[in-house]
Amino acid sequence: MRKREERQEKQVQQRTPGMPCPECGFQIEMSIYSLLTQAEFKCPGCLLTLSMDREVSRPALELLQKVNTQREEMEKHKKFS
Ligand SMILES: [Zn+2]
Repeated sequence: MRKREERQEKQVQQRTPGMPCPECGFQIEMSIYSLLTQAEFKCPGCLLTLSMDREVSRPALELLQKVNTQREEMEKHKKFS
């Protein structure tokens, strides 16, 4: 039971999208949800605040959403096959 829980946690972590901090290169985790709802992200490494420019980042956000949707579809397919 316990081992299975740990493995699921790992999978969730691997799926978490993010981007490296432009200052220190720390991988900042950004979930699709937080990308769509948060205006700012803080780097845990150097505490730099990244502001999301909605207009500039829109193509990236759309791409992320697309990737996320495809991933969900793939997982659904995996479960049923
Ligand atoms: Zn940083």
